[in-house]
Amino acid sequence: MLPSLTGLSHEELTSWLKEQGEPAFRANQILDWMWKKKADSIDAMSNLPATLRAKLTSSFRLASLTHTHTQGSADTTRKFLFKLHDGRYVESVLIPANPALYGGTSDRRTLCVSSQVGCAYGCKFCASGLAGFTRNLDASEIAGQVLAAEQLSNERVDNIVFMGMGEPLANINNLLAAINLITNEKTLHLGARHLTISTSGLVPQIRQLAEHPQQIRLAISLHGATDEIRQQIMPVNRKWPLAELFDALDYWNSRKNQKLTLEYILIENINDSLEQATILARVARRLHAKVNLIPYNTVEGLEWKRPNDKQCRAFRDIVKNAGVQATLRLEKGHDIDAACGQLRLKQETAEGIIR
Ligand code: SAH
Ligand code: SF4
Repeated sequence: MLPSLTGLSHEELTSWLKEQGEPAFRANQILDWMWKKKADSIDAMSNLPATLRAKLTSSFRLASLTHTHTQGSADTTRKFLFKLHDGRYVESVLIPANPALYGGTSDRRTLCVSSQVGCAYGCKFCASGLAGFTRNLDASEIAGQVLAAEQLSNERVDNIVFMGMGEPLANINNLLAAINLITNEKTLHLGARHLTISTSGLVPQIRQLAEHPQQIRLAISLHGATDEIRQQIMPVNRKWPLAELFDALDYWNSRKNQKLTLEYILIENINDSLEQATILARVARRLHAKVNLIPYNTVEGLEWKRPNDKQCRAFRDIVKNAGVQATLRLEKGHDIDAACGQLRLKQETAEGIIR
């Protein structure tokens, strides 16, 4: 399988052109065709000489994803399913004019991007963790989701959250290469402040990211305010318990000046006690973090449920009354949003890739 042209940074493309004896300025033209004009074939790059187009065609394929399915409609949340070159599937979710949940401005289109096929972290409530880990996505497959979503919706994506399938920080090298494609002025040119990485808490990578020069936002999937509760549902907590995670987040705070987000899924009778709310508020204050409360989305094959609205509000009020910025979205019909991994699981199961 030929590599994807969209995976090349400006530097990589320039050095490839040099090897071919082509002038360096062609790199700008090619990037412009791919990322700004959104060409759908190498042949459409009409200001390139035919010889160069032929060389490109014999060395690269253009896109790394094939769109196969859309769930949802233009004025609602849409989930796109993409087939990869090895027959695997990933998905991205486009959320229109979403309120500022992760620190972005409101009235903006947010794309939820996948970073891996499956996930090795096995959180007990999560569809992506269910079928285990298959492979990392490469940079063109990650950034390509943004390009494809813009092509399919005919709209610009304003915010990106790495909250789709996979653990982004377990694939940090490809993730950072994709972020370079997303933020670079020659490619997608989206500000780093409009990107949020969500992680289940990989301590060494959080420290590594704290050193990264760009102001990328960070959201932590906490889902339990004590080790006891958290490790029941998130095996990663045994490797990096809360004390180590919080130390890494203190370090993050010492290097960065935007607020952390703590994500907290509310699951009935698992982590929704008001005692957990009190401890969560204490944690958030210590970390100067805001809290995003998410009523659990049911996953086929799992027993977990969301608490009733009254319980969700009582939980939120405790956090808010402690002086912490907290959001809670109660409206129904958003199952498509957070149900990471579910569409892809259905597709792969139907094709017999997963049994
Ligand atoms: N692996 C990363 C990012 C992908 S998951 C992480 O864990 O942060 C993105 C978010 O969706 C996480 O906060 C995750 O806990 C949450 N999530 C997973 N399954 C969910 C479900 N069924 N309902 C609501 N949120 C869910
Ligand atoms: Fe992986 Fe995140 Fe799902 Fe946990 S919540 S299994 S880390 S994708």
